[in-house]
Parts: sequence; C-alpha cells; structure tokens
Amino acid sequence: MISRRNFLKTSALTLGGMSLPSLISCAGGNENKAAEAAAPAPKEFIGLQTYSLGAELAADVPGGLAKVKSFGYTDLELAGYNNGRIHAGYGDGDEGYAPADYKKLCDDLGLNILSAHLGTPSQYKTPEAEFTEAWKKTVEDHVTLGCTYIVDPSMPQCATIDEVKQACDRFNLAGKICKEAGIQFGYHNHNNEFTKLATPEQIKAKREEIIEMMKKRFPQMKPTDEMINGMMRRNAPGTMYEQLYMDNTDPELVCFQLDVYWCMIGDQDPCEWITEHSDRIKLLHIKDRWIIGDSGMMNWKNIFTRAKAVGIKHFFVELESDPKGRKQFEGVEKSAQFLASQDYVW
Ligand code: MG
Repeated sequence: MISRRNFLKTSALTLGGMSLPSLISCAGGNENKAAEAAAPAPKEFIGLQTYSLGAELAADVPGGLAKVKSFGYTDLELAGYNNGRIHAGYGDGDEGYAPADYKKLCDDLGLNILSAHLGTPSQYKTPEAEFTEAWKKTVEDHVTLGCTYIVDPSMPQCATIDEVKQACDRFNLAGKICKEAGIQFGYHNHNNEFTKLATPEQIKAKREEIIEMMKKRFPQMKPTDEMINGMMRRNAPGTMYEQLYMDNTDPELVCFQLDVYWCMIGDQDPCEWITEHSDRIKLLHIKDRWIIGDSGMMNWKNIFTRAKAVGIKHFFVELESDPKGRKQFEGVEKSAQFLASQDYVW
C-alpha cells in the first residue's frame, strides 16, 4: 500500500518547486485579521484528517485524540490503516489498534469517524481477484470503524487514456464493494490531477495547429522543436486527469473530495470546481500553507460560502509538517480556532 507520505514524496510537484497559483476568485483574503478580532463560536462540524498529526499522535493516541476533541474537532478522517490495524498519523511507528478498539476510543471521546483514506484502489494493476479479496476485508474493517466514506488519495500511475480507464474501472469496483457495505467511496486530488493527458491524435493536431499559427505570425522564422515544444507545454492539449476521473467513473459509486489547496497549487479555482462539479464533490480538504487562514492565499469565505450553496456538508482540516518545525498539535489547534471564529464556516 502506498502511504500518503510516500505519495507526497514522490509527487512530481512539491511546494518547493511549484508555480504560484493564478489570481483567482478563491485566492487571497484577510480572514486571519478577522480571526484575531472575532470571538470563537462552537461549530457543529469541524473535521480533522489525522495524517496532520503524524508521529505526535502515534506517541500517545488516547491523549492526542482527547486534545483533538478539546480543540473543537467533531469528526475524524483516518489515514493509518495497514493490515487490519489502525495506526496513528502516517500509518507506521506504532502498534496500532484493532478497528473495534479504535472506534471505542473515539466513541468514548465523542469523536465521530466519518471517513478514512486508503490508497489501495489506485494500484489498479493488481489482479482483480486479489484486489477484491483484500478490499472486502478492508471495507469490513471500515464498517466496524463506522465510516461513512472511504477516500483514495493516491493518484494512479496512468500515462495513457486507456490506463486512466483501467484505473477508473478499479475505482468503480472499489466503489461498488463499498456501496454494498453501506460506505461511499471517493477520490482525493493533489495538484497533478490538474495537468492534462492527451491522446496521440490530440497531440499531433495541437502540434500542427501551433506550426500553422507560427508560420502565419512569424513567416520569416523557421520554428524549431524547442520553440514548438515550449508552445505545446503552454497550450497543452487533452483533458485534466481530475476531469477524466469524473468522466470515467460511475457517479453512484465514486464521489470526489476536493483538496482546495492542491487545487489552487494546480492553478485552478476551487470555487469553480465546487460549482461546476457539485454533483460529484461531496467532501473538502481544508488546507493552507500550514495553519488554516495564516497565509492569506486562500479565500476561505468564498470557498465555504460556495460549498454551502451546493450542499457540501463535510470538510477535513489537513496540515503537512511545518517547515519551521512547530508542533503539529499547535497547527491543528490554531486551525480549529481560526475556523471556529469565522461566521461563514457552517
Ligand atoms: Mg488533502
């Protein structure tokens, strides 16, 4: 199973090398100044992706979850399932809990386990019978946990449209097995889902279009491969992976969890995606550079307002590790304080 941490390590685009997101309607904002002035108010729902706490949670799971509850979080999305055990944080570094024991721990604290991340279906080249057997057991364990959702956060390795279709078939199968168990299956994006994949015909046609355009605009110039390839990169043909996943999966079996931060890093407007795909996007990941609301690059008011308008009910705060080395619990607590202080957060 590919862990989220390994996935992020191997992801082609990282924070260090990313392009700046364009100035779009969900970018920017001064909410944090408002957070300092406003009095915190309890919210009915604030979700946390437990990956945010990493090894700090693994060091003391009951104590850590009690802190999470005290910060105002109501719901969890787990990330550490491995071989029938629920691990804290990154899915390793501790012995883990049996699903029933982990659920009891959360029940006793008043935390609801709404969702869990599992990367298995992304490995769509695993033979179907082998996948089905393992997935049924995995889903069973998540029924024990009381999950409403299981979400795959790992992008399948697909170099062609045909491979995307194979991956989507596997997502549909994963979703069907989930549905039979009363769980909704979903897919979570990073930024690479907003790059395009084209057929050989689309690439050929775009190349010819660029050459023709260059001939007309610069008749004295003979276009080099380097110039044409540069134009191809800036005017990539094809369809975004995220759209291909939506087009090739069954809406009854596969929903989408939009990570609004990675959507921005992919130079996309999360509000547009939320609006245009309101039939598919059922969950959000609320993520910022670190503490939610601190960077000013995310217009949380627009995002939450738009999400409410289309009927999205659940979101999970998610933090990567802090480049400045602050404690993850500090970031998780301050993120909850920020959200609790915003009147547009439902
Ligand atoms: Mg995320």
